[in-house]
Amino acid sequence: MKQSMTIIPTLRELPSDAEIKSHQLLLRAGFIKQIASGVYTYLPLAKRTLDHIERIIREEMERAGAAELLMPALQPAELWQDSGRWYTYGDELMRMHDRHDRSFALGPTHEEVITSIVNDAVPSYKRLPITLYQIQTKFRDEKRPRFGLLRGREFVMKDAYSFHTSSESLDDTYQKMYQAYINIFNRCGLDFRAVLADSGAIGGKDTQEFMVLSEIGEDTIAYSDSSSYAANIEMAEINQEYVKPDAPPKDLEKVETPDQKTIAEVSEFLQVSASDVIKSLVLLVDEEPVMVLVRGDHEANEVKVKNALDAKAVEFADEEKTKELLNCSFGSIGPVNLPDNVKIIADQAVEYMINAVCGANEDGFHYKNVVPGRDFQVETYADLRFIQEGDPSPDGKGTIKFARGIEVGHIFKLGTTYSEAMSAKYLDENGKAHPYIMGCYGIGVSRTLAAIAEQFNDENGLIWPANIAPYDIHLIPVNMKNEDQKNLAEKLYSSLQEHQYDVLFDDRNERPGVKFNDSDLIGLPVRVTVGKKAAEGIVEVKIRKTGEMIEAKAEELNGVLE
Ligand code: ATP
Ligand code: MG
Ligand code: MG
Ligand code: MG
Repeated sequence: MKQSMTIIPTLRELPSDAEIKSHQLLLRAGFIKQIASGVYTYLPLAKRTLDHIERIIREEMERAGAAELLMPALQPAELWQDSGRWYTYGDELMRMHDRHDRSFALGPTHEEVITSIVNDAVPSYKRLPITLYQIQTKFRDEKRPRFGLLRGREFVMKDAYSFHTSSESLDDTYQKMYQAYINIFNRCGLDFRAVLADSGAIGGKDTQEFMVLSEIGEDTIAYSDSSSYAANIEMAEINQEYVKPDAPPKDLEKVETPDQKTIAEVSEFLQVSASDVIKSLVLLVDEEPVMVLVRGDHEANEVKVKNALDAKAVEFADEEKTKELLNCSFGSIGPVNLPDNVKIIADQAVEYMINAVCGANEDGFHYKNVVPGRDFQVETYADLRFIQEGDPSPDGKGTIKFARGIEVGHIFKLGTTYSEAMSAKYLDENGKAHPYIMGCYGIGVSRTLAAIAEQFNDENGLIWPANIAPYDIHLIPVNMKNEDQKNLAEKLYSSLQEHQYDVLFDDRNERPGVKFNDSDLIGLPVRVTVGKKAAEGIVEVKIRKTGEMIEAKAEELNGVLE
């Protein structure tokens, strides 16, 4: 590509609102342009970079046996009402109306759509398991969009979903996806770690995140200094904002709280320790769990609860115990003797929520017809990980250290959460219907681009890994007005392309200093400069990463580049 034929609007000044390296450099090197808060244009260089990342993802997804499809970004509210997430997703869901006043959402993720598709398309066990994926633009009205592509409100995600008849089959696909993710992030050249997501609080093996190690990461990883144990502690963003509506909606009805149980009673009933119960508090309203705090102990695991502000998204390891638990109500949560290392956030969180739902809790009432998301909002709930730096590692090996990470991927065993909520079922060999067992697997594609930029740069600009770089070679005639230089550069431009190199040709009439600065800023792996020795057929090759310079005869260039 000739630079005169594309746009690469490099900036000399440091953009004032960009705090971190990748954001600054992607703006300065002319890769991206902001159009609104958290909304960016991928200019031609970024588009090519994104294409390379997507190519790697596609190759690894196909290799793992996933088939690509493309679902709509525009999704009818009914699907989200079926799953319950219309009421629980909160303000991150971009909601809108069509001209007939029908409600829609712009997809932040696609569990609902894919579940409805597979429910129609794959009615029988014979066609299971199946894994489908897409690479698509997602919308999330993030509270704090920031750091450029790292946290956008519109961003590119690869999302895959798998459907199974057994948990063994799900395990198998989950493992394949895990390996695919390792391959993808390795091929992107990233320094990353797979960690237990959600603090390992739900057993850990059911969900893992892929974290690019970086100071500016928003997640904190607790890892052992002498084993492979690593978990996201999700402590950084503890943010207890329980928003109460101005006036309770009219259809709320006061009911007497069913018999209350203290933590001690529940702990005896479930035969788990009191601290485990504290980590797993369920708020019941009208016998329905409207709120679940995930406090599963990754070792004890008697009560295993998935990420669930939405009652429908609750999944317990032990169904019998779950039933028993749900038949008992424990509106009262104290008094309890808290172990020393347990902070009181759990209690506060519940209190906040009870208050948010009921006004003051003192009268001992709960309310009927409470709608989470309408009657109260929980922005983020505290995920209690009591672990501190220097503590013994939960796997018993070594001590805990902390590191910061950028979440670029997330894999998740969903189980039957969505299929049950949406009555999505397949028929087994006896014609009996069962909910699909599901998994989901996401990669932030545009975030990955930014994470690569964050890891690969120096004071002069970006340094793209060879298989991600928008072009392989930056070809720069120092002076386009010099005939020898111009001709040799043109000749090299054709011959390099014939040898399958992607070449960016700086054919602009700019001063050499400008061209070289731009070139370092853009960060292609190799720069070929056609300068003073053009008449002798000699060019200069510079390796961006090492700064190494070599003179080469133009006709031997392909050999040198090998
Ligand atoms: P985060 O914790 O950073 O908000 P998430 O856990 O909400 O991310 P997931 O629902 O797991 O995100 O989505 C799958 C992947 O999509 C994430 O692992 C991340 O790489 C990417 N992603 C999520 N939100 C954004 C965003 N606002 N901008 C860019 N990428 C994002
Ligand atoms: Mg998020
Ligand atoms: Mg996350
Ligand atoms: Mg995630």
